Amino acid sequence: MASLEGATPPGSRLMTPRELEAWIANCLRMSGRAVLALPPVGTKPYRFVIGDGAAAGSDLIRVYAWNATHGGGPARAADEFRIQLTGSMPESVDGENTVILGWSEPFQVFAGWDPEIHDQRLSASPSLQVRADVMIRASSQGIAAGTRASGDVVVAFRPELLAAYCLNAEAIHANPDAASVDWLNELPSRVEASVGQRPTIQRTLEVAYRAWDFAHRVRVAYGARCAVCGLGLGLVEGAHIVPVAWPGSTDETKNGLAMCRNHHAAYDRGLFTISPDYEVQVQPAIRDGHAPSGLDLEWLGSVDGIALSHLPELQSDQPDREYLAVGQEARR
Ligand SMILES: [Zn+2]
Repeated sequence: MASLEGATPPGSRLMTPRELEAWIANCLRMSGRAVLALPPVGTKPYRFVIGDGAAAGSDLIRVYAWNATHGGGPARAADEFRIQLTGSMPESVDGENTVILGWSEPFQVFAGWDPEIHDQRLSASPSLQVRADVMIRASSQGIAAGTRASGDVVVAFRPELLAAYCLNAEAIHANPDAASVDWLNELPSRVEASVGQRPTIQRTLEVAYRAWDFAHRVRVAYGARCAVCGLGLGLVEGAHIVPVAWPGSTDETKNGLAMCRNHHAAYDRGLFTISPDYEVQVQPAIRDGHAPSGLDLEWLGSVDGIALSHLPELQSDQPDREYLAVGQEARR
């Protein structure tokens, strides 16, 4: 089963409402955002304020979530999973991003259904379905979509994409046609196709998917260890060698380096570079004592001149030497 850096869900069993709420908060945090769970705790809807760190930038997320379980019984298809909307009926509220979620422990993915269609549903115990193949595809490629018999779209996605899904759920489900299902299912192949050129990106879900996909490939290639110091601990991120904003930057694995959060931040700030010979080089100006105040020169100096401690086994995943030269140029 797919591994999750940075978080581990409770054991393989159904979660209690409190556990589910805590797990959802945890998954929202995995997207790098500040998350505040609003009271009352453990009662649907779970409500979260998620922020991007800026005072003005925060969103309210309203979550109705259940465990997704196998339908069971001879009347149900063998590959059908579902949530049973017990306890509280989903209700959309203006100004809040409302989502209906199912969490599948075996597949390690969420499924999301259109909150509008099921709004104020009158049936005594309605259930919403998702097929196993949609969840399996989401588990391996990050996100996948399917169409239910009733015509609406169900989207399955990995926990790292939860925040992006919540912020885009309304748009995703607003047009439940074949085109939008294809758009979601083709996200992974479009990322492959865009290597070498960065198309104009309009949708935050696509941005989030690309960021997850790049970081995931880079982390896997380096065995989830920092290329500079070797730290693992689930705190490893994917750093771009040629910075994203630099002309010609790509999301190829060979334009990435796995780094712990500290080295990633220092690398992105240009405090050190990596030479085409895979050597860590602290900026000459900093070495000469022209360091910004508050900089821990001892910590930085301890890696100056060392060779990268971890490299991908697969040669095609190893840092591209031309990209490293451009990366040094960009950080001068
Ligand atoms: Zn490190």
